[in-house]
Amino acid sequence: GSISMETESNYISSVIPGWFSEISPMWPGEAHSLKVEKILFEGKSDFQNVLVFQSSTYGKVLVLDGVIQLTERDECAYQEMITHLPLCSIPNPKKVLVIGGGDGGVLREVARHSSVEQIDICEIDKMVVDVSKQFFPEVAVGYEDPRVKLHIGDGVAFLKAVPAGTYDAIIVDSSDPIALCLFHSGPAQELFEKPFFDTVSKALRPGGVVSTQAESIWLHMHIIEDIVANCRQIFKGSVNYAWTTVPTYPRHILLIFLLLLSVVGVIGFMLCSTEGPSVDFKHPVNPIDADKNPSKSREPLKFYNSEIHTAAFCLPTFAKKVIDSK
Ligand code: SAM
Repeated sequence: GSISMETESNYISSVIPGWFSEISPMWPGEAHSLKVEKILFEGKSDFQNVLVFQSSTYGKVLVLDGVIQLTERDECAYQEMITHLPLCSIPNPKKVLVIGGGDGGVLREVARHSSVEQIDICEIDKMVVDVSKQFFPEVAVGYEDPRVKLHIGDGVAFLKAVPAGTYDAIIVDSSDPIALCLFHSGPAQELFEKPFFDTVSKALRPGGVVSTQAESIWLHMHIIEDIVANCRQIFKGSVNYAWTTVPTYPRHILLIFLLLLSVVGVIGFMLCSTEGPSVDFKHPVNPIDADKNPSKSREPLKFYNSEIHTAAFCLPTFAKKVIDSK
């Protein structure tokens, strides 16, 4: 198939035929590009444009509103870190909530923890779930775990209805706050705002933990500053910023004509805990490398280990200065 006119206009334009470039107000002046072998799916849900293509070097790629959400080659880095940083930092996590994460990759990682009894997920867009099951079976495999319960709806509304103190851990695997379209903000906008963090903290038990996608220190220090400041007001246990490498983040894809190739390749996470039993995120108390009972159908961990867990909290000086000052 070829990119429809509608998609093409949404993703700005294309100068290099056959390449997808991420162009966004989120990272002005730069764009990461991947060579497209084949477009596999194009659709428009009630919330966003959904695109799946076969790339020549990163396997299949999922794109929402022009922003790469995952590639088969590097999804392990993101999914394993956003999940095991919180879950390995507390003993015996039992009830876990995932907000967003419709692709199922975070569910796959949560399911590795044998202490977990209940895994709720609230994803706003059913098309993401369906597309992942069709094109990314190794990611969507997370849905096969019997502990998983899928709720289709807005994560903000879902959380408001959760009784106080319900979850041991909440993982917010959202898209970016600003979608590619210049004229509207994406469905994830609210997931970065203070009232949302407040609802998260109420839904957690004392000493419960949250992990949320928190952008890149190379591009978004101004957003990170605000997120850290908000979190410090709300999470009275601890507030930390961690980061990892994901070659295709951040990221935006278009079939473009002006190609400014740049890979940032770095994504961050906020790791916070509520008041209660103290949580020292830098020293994991629940190491998963020791999990002796992984299901046979599951691939072993590819990225996460205890050393990389601790290292993720070491920040470059310029970022440390800003984050410590908030
Ligand atoms: N790891 C990816 C990244 O950072 O690019 C994110 C993957 S995941 C596919 C993000 C999901 O969050 C999307 O499927 C999107 O539909 C969902 N989402 C965005 N806003 C949401 C909201 N308000 N409530 C629930 N899910 C939401």
